[in-house]
Amino acid sequence: MQVLVVGAGVVGLAIARQAAISGHDVTVAEITGGIANGVSSRNSEVIHAGLYYPTDTLRAVLCVRGRRMLYEFCASHGVNHHKCGKLVVATNEAELDSLYETADFDTALNALRQDARLAVITRSEKGCLVVTREATEAIPAVPVERVVDATGAGDLFAAGFLVGLARAADFRTAARLGALAAAEVIGHLGARPETSLKALAEQNGLGL
Ligand SMILES: Cc1cc2nc3c(=O)[nH]c(=O)nc-3n(C[C@H](O)[C@H](O)[C@H](O)COP(=O)(O)OP(=O)(O)OC[C@H]3O[C@@H](n4cnc5c(N)ncnc54)[C@H](O)[C@@H]3O)c2cc1C
Repeated sequence: MQVLVVGAGVVGLAIARQAAISGHDVTVAEITGGIANGVSSRNSEVIHAGLYYPTDTLRAVLCVRGRRMLYEFCASHGVNHHKCGKLVVATNEAELDSLYETADFDTALNALRQDARLAVITRSEKGCLVVTREATEAIPAVPVERVVDATGAGDLFAAGFLVGLARAADFRTAARLGALAAAEVIGHLGARPETSLKALAEQNGLGL
């Protein structure tokens, strides 16, 4: 059979390849005159795991099957790739429950403890939980007079926490630095701090 495929992106080329393998007479028409000149050459180049799609949906099933086939294709055709794993970030208690598919927070916490040497769960005005293999420690939030805009709060928390860790502070101090940075940014509009976080930390006895 004569097959005309319009568009030489990754989808068109995959269809054309399969049709050719099946013995059809295939023509690919491409408006730009070259292959993969569209979005196929401008994407993030991630081999998706299908993790975010609801279980048993067509999307999830096809993504998982496609991933397996793509790895096989790369291996058999010498295409360089790196299977680097995935970092899944749950940003609150509900997301952690959902990650471990349980409605019981303690069950999720125990599972998290098996998976991560150190995890931090932010809990808005309730502060955060620092979870290690040995213990779970609750760190209170820094009180804010008025929450104006929560944009950037998670990033600033992470920034403060990581600065603490990078400077060899204990987890409690690192979490307090995170809470302080988050409190600064939610007190005004915009995701960037308006005061020096270093000075703020020093004023609060957290200078490193
Ligand atoms: C920002 C971004 C990041 C992404 N990241 C990922 C990722 O990490 N992993 C992943 O798996 N997917 C990712 N995707 C999705 C993935 O890139 C696309 O699903 C895929 O490239 C679509 O391929 P395609 O062949 O359908 O489209 P395209 O690559 O766009 O190909 C369509 C082709 O058709 C041609 N064409 C259009 N009209 C005509 C016409 N009338 N006649 C002839 N030719 C025509 C175009 O010139 C083009 O070459 C990402 C997408 C985006 C936008």
